[in-house]
Amino acid sequence: MKFRFLSALALLTVNTSFAQDSVMFRKISDEIMLHGTCYENLRVLCKNVGNRISGSPAAAKAVQWGEKCMKEAGADHVWLQAADVPYWYRGKESLMIKMGNGAYKKMTALSLGNTEGTGGKPLEAQVVLVHSYEEFNALPDDAVKGKIIFFDYRFRQDFVFTFQGYGDGVKYRWASPSIAAKRGAVGVIIRSMSTGADDFPHTGGMHYNDSFKKIPEMALGNYSADSLEHYLAKGTVTAKMQSDCHMNEEKRHSYNVIGEITGTKYPDSIITVGGHLDSWDVGEGANDDGAGCVQSIEVLRAIKAIGLKPKYTIRAVLFMNEENGLKGGEAYADSAKAKHEHHALAIETDAGGFSPRGIGLEMSEVQKEKVRVFKNLFLAYGVYDFSIEEGGADIGPIHKKLNTPLAGLIPDSQRYFDVHHTNNDVFENVNHRELKLGAAVLTQFIYLASEHELF
Ligand SMILES: [Zn+2]
Repeated sequence: MKFRFLSALALLTVNTSFAQDSVMFRKISDEIMLHGTCYENLRVLCKNVGNRISGSPAAAKAVQWGEKCMKEAGADHVWLQAADVPYWYRGKESLMIKMGNGAYKKMTALSLGNTEGTGGKPLEAQVVLVHSYEEFNALPDDAVKGKIIFFDYRFRQDFVFTFQGYGDGVKYRWASPSIAAKRGAVGVIIRSMSTGADDFPHTGGMHYNDSFKKIPEMALGNYSADSLEHYLAKGTVTAKMQSDCHMNEEKRHSYNVIGEITGTKYPDSIITVGGHLDSWDVGEGANDDGAGCVQSIEVLRAIKAIGLKPKYTIRAVLFMNEENGLKGGEAYADSAKAKHEHHALAIETDAGGFSPRGIGLEMSEVQKEKVRVFKNLFLAYGVYDFSIEEGGADIGPIHKKLNTPLAGLIPDSQRYFDVHHTNNDVFENVNHRELKLGAAVLTQFIYLASEHELF
C-alpha cells in the first residue's frame, strides 16, 4: 500500500513536470517558428560573406558577422577566441581525359581539400580503374607505377542513415593519394562521396602520409565518374590533371566566436551549443555549416526572447577550422582546461539544416537514460531517435580533454550528401521551416538539460 502510494506520487510529479515541460517546449517552438532570425542570418552569411575556408579573407569577414549576430541575439558576453589555422589554396584547376589517341575532353572536377596540385603544369598519365583497396592491392607494381589511379568506390545507397554511407566510403577520399603514391602512382581521381543523382563533384578533406610523395587528388561527380568508367571499359584512357593547389607553409590567425548567457544557479557550469563557421571554398557553406551556426545563435536569442533564466551558463560557439584542421575545437578545449572550467554538456549541430529527427548521445549509459526519460516530449516536433552515438567533430576535443558528455542534433539525412562540400550547398537549398525546427529542438534539449540538471 505504502509502495503504491509512493509510486503514484512519483508518477504525479513526473506528469506535472511533463506538462510544464511540454508547455515550455511549445513556447520555445512558437518563438522560433514565428520570430526566429536564423534564416535571415543565414541569408546574410551566405550572400554577403559566401564560402569561407579557414585563413581566407571571407573567413575573417564571417568572424565579424558572427560577433554581430551574437550581440543582436542578446548574449550577455560576446568574445573572440584565438586559433591559428592552416590556409589551403585552390587556384586554377582542370581535368581532361581522352580515349586512345582521341581529343581531350574537359571533365567537371574538384581538387580535394589540402591536396597539393601539379605546380600549375600538366600531369599526363594513363588512368587505371579500381573499385576498392582490395582491387588496388591485387594490381602488379607495373600497373600502378607512373599511373593515375581512379578509385571508383560508390557511396553505398543501402544505408538509410546516409552518415553511415559517408563513414563507410570517406577513406577513399582521405587516404588514397598516399596509398597510391607508396606504389609509385602519380595522381588520384576519386568518385565523389555523394548520394546525388547528378554531376556535382564534392571536395572535402584529404590527408598525406609524409613518408610518401604528395600526389594530387581530384573528385568527379557521379555522372562523370560513370562516363569515365564507361570509357575505361572500352579501352585505354589518358588523363591530364593541372592545378595550382597548395597548402601554405605559414598558419594564419583566426578565431572562434563565442556568446553566452550566464546561468542563474550554476554560472560556472557550462552547456555549449555550436556549429562551425569555416566552410570549403565552393558553394556558400549553407548546410555545412552555416545552418549550425545560425541555429546555435538562435538558441541564445530564443532564451532571451522568452525570458528563460537557465540554471547553467549557455554558450553558443562558432568554431573555426572544422573542415581542415579542427584548430578551433582544439583551442576551445585547451582554454577550458587551462581555466579549469566545468563543462556540463556540449552539443553540436553540423549535419545540415534539415528537419530534426533525433539527438545523438555520446555519453555514459546512465546519462543516456536520463535523457531518454524525456523522449516523448520531442515526438510532436518530429524527433524520435535517441539511439545514435554521435556528438560532433568540434566538440570532440573537449570530450577527450575534459570528459564532457556530448550530444549532436540529427536531422533527416537524405539530402545532405547531395549538397555537402559542393557548389550546390547554397542558401536556396536550406528550407526556412526545417532550419527553425532544428533550432527549436536544440533549444528544447538545452532547456531540459539545464532545468532538470541532467548533467
Ligand atoms: Zn561540417
